[in-house]
Amino acid sequence: MHRTVLFGAPGVGKGTQAKLLTAALGIPHISTGDLLRVEVRSGTVLGLEAKAAMDRGQLVPDAVVIAMVETMLRRHDNGSSGFVLDGFPRTVAQAEALDEMLGRLGQRLDAVVALEAPESELIARIARRGQIEGRTDDEDVAVVRARLGQYAEKTRPVRDYYEGKGLLRVLNGTGEIDEIQQQIRTTLQTAATEHNLSA
Ligand code: AMP
Repeated sequence: MHRTVLFGAPGVGKGTQAKLLTAALGIPHISTGDLLRVEVRSGTVLGLEAKAAMDRGQLVPDAVVIAMVETMLRRHDNGSSGFVLDGFPRTVAQAEALDEMLGRLGQRLDAVVALEAPESELIARIARRGQIEGRTDDEDVAVVRARLGQYAEKTRPVRDYYEGKGLLRVLNGTGEIDEIQQQIRTTLQTAATEHNLSA
């Protein structure tokens, strides 16, 4: 069972690593950024509201993303052996809500893997992604700065929250994609063993 949060700043490679990991393990990849972009493209009311925040590099309100994640966790509650959360939780309130949701489903997290990279590297990677994927929030320097600011102010405390719970595993996010993937898998195997021992 792998119930994992992939944690880190914008541009650190969470999405790339989450895709590889969930494909290999055959478990759902739950990315709140991807879910929000689907809403924006579909032109739903939720999408229109979210777009205003996303275009400015601000966080979408907690209640919106918490409800989206709850829907996904319930959808995958039966028959799947875990999940990888990518880009959620981004605030301590979201982390607390996640604990509550999982508690209601009789589940708990196995590990929180934090990927780290220097800010100069994050900015360079986001700029590259903006050119390749045409993500408007990646192309505008002021928006990128705002997102990194939101990370420092609101998301970084989530790391302390999980450290306090003994769930945090920190990995270096610079280097070859495949090598980092291998390190994530090794880390999760260790976490799963420890989890079984403590269960
Ligand atoms: P991402 O693709 O994870 O970089 O997310 C893109 C944008 O979606 C972020 O800059 C936020 O505006 C919004 N977003 C994604 N996930 C969350 C979240 N968990 N809480 C609040 N806003 C989010």
